[in-house]
Amino acid sequence: MALSQLARSIAESPTLRLNEEARLLKERGEAVINLGIGEPKNKTPISAVLGAAARLSEGDVKYTPVDGIPSLKKAVIRYTEENYDRLVAPENVIVSSGAKQSLFNVLFTLLNPQDEVVILAPYWVSYPEIVKMIYGIPVIVTPEDGTMIPRLEDIERAVSSYTKVMIVNSPNNPSGAVYPEALVAGIVEFCERKDIYLIFDDIYHKLVFDGKTAAPAYRYARKDTDNGKLIVINGISKLYGMTGYRIGWAVASRAIVEVMINVQAQTTSCASLILQAGAEGALTGLQSVVEGLRLTIQNNRDIALRELAALPGVHTSRPEGTFYCLPDLRAYSHDSVELARMLLQRALVVTVPGREFGMEGHLRLSYSGSPHDVTEGVERIRWALDPQAPNEIYIGDRRRVRDWL
Ligand code: PMP
Repeated sequence: MALSQLARSIAESPTLRLNEEARLLKERGEAVINLGIGEPKNKTPISAVLGAAARLSEGDVKYTPVDGIPSLKKAVIRYTEENYDRLVAPENVIVSSGAKQSLFNVLFTLLNPQDEVVILAPYWVSYPEIVKMIYGIPVIVTPEDGTMIPRLEDIERAVSSYTKVMIVNSPNNPSGAVYPEALVAGIVEFCERKDIYLIFDDIYHKLVFDGKTAAPAYRYARKDTDNGKLIVINGISKLYGMTGYRIGWAVASRAIVEVMINVQAQTTSCASLILQAGAEGALTGLQSVVEGLRLTIQNNRDIALRELAALPGVHTSRPEGTFYCLPDLRAYSHDSVELARMLLQRALVVTVPGREFGMEGHLRLSYSGSPHDVTEGVERIRWALDPQAPNEIYIGDRRRVRDWL
């Protein structure tokens, strides 16, 4: 049976695959530590639980408007005003089943086949794959060796007459980098001047450490939402630890949202009413939940950095946000896929190969789990790689001896 060439060319999601491998190992009773998936450990905020439960117990769960229930859209509008000082109309907002679907729908709405999309490395794995699904061409801009943020001049050089869209993600998955204000300002100004659609993926925008904040694209946009080409993507997965609710949204011009509504109408119809109600609960409930999560994760970041510093030859660019870091492990291996596989087999630690994010020789570690997992996970990596580390370790209740260095 001949399956679609395009569909077969789409890469498997490495994070989800590794997560599945880890789940199977865990099921077999192995003491796996998962530093792969980006998913906070917190319980769903109570306001979200109550919002979803109320709808469920009404016993009247039907289709919703394609672009989302009006009360959630109202909450998104308020969120946009409070966090970005930007007033938008209901016609500028569309709610989808996760920010990932928002991104897919935006790109499907914008791209013709062969249009180029500029993506800044290190990048979230799904950007280039989604672009390819729509017959677009990803154009990757790589930072200078040893840095995590591409230079504006290199970004500008990657733009050609075929460029339709640029995607920016700050705070950044997988590096944890927060782009400097001057760069964000430069990118927004450049895209407006060149008439390029700018997708700003703000899914981590409040998970920023050390009293800093992430510069939002809105601050530098001179055109208003309906006349400009700035699209901001957001959601509840990361800030509220509600990954399983699958609710995200896009804020864009009416012209874009109008077409996105048709795209969504012909694919998923709408996000689930119950989960939309949960998302509304999160957005309208106590926001100290987000701050609590941020502080927990900042503490985990410090632990991860401290532990990684004990690994000789490893440089870790200090994350200023998100719950990821991307240590450079080229002192041990230039093949990150092989390295991640070896660490899972020998040390039972899940990591994600940097190759998937356009940064070969690096591994992405997520510190969204418990401080214990972060400490022990990095300790196991050190045991597996560093000949100076003690060559015996307990993994679960089994003593393991390193015999490969
Ligand atoms: N953008 C980035 C940068 C992400 O890391 C993720 C989740 N890993 C998403 C978007 C998608 O989030 P959601 O769970 O809302 O689909």
